[in-house]
Amino acid sequence: MDPYAPLGREMDTSGQTCTHSPGDEPSNDCGKKAAWHIAWNAALENGLACDPHMAEARARFVFVDSHRVGPECAMPGTLWDFNNMRCIYPDEPTAPAAAAERTVTA
Ligand SMILES: [Zn+2]
Ligand SMILES: [Zn+2]
Repeated sequence: MDPYAPLGREMDTSGQTCTHSPGDEPSNDCGKKAAWHIAWNAALENGLACDPHMAEARARFVFVDSHRVGPECAMPGTLWDFNNMRCIYPDEPTAPAAAAERTVTA
């Protein structure tokens, strides 16, 4: 069986609903509230999944990473943060960077 998830069309994730869609048909969209954010490949093509469809994805497909959906996940321009298992804004000051900056200016 093909281990890669069929990505199909570009999905609108702004509503943070599950993007599982058998046959890539709009009428088959799951549409349940998403619980998981999945990065399918190294290009970080990503999708959202509810709990049952996350379980199905784990059982059937290979993917790069996943994390619990947070408020940033559907925002445009956010980055996938592998270490902290969430999405972040690129300009969000991280604690270590802020600490380093203070040390320099002191
Ligand atoms: Zn679903
Ligand atoms: Zn995310």
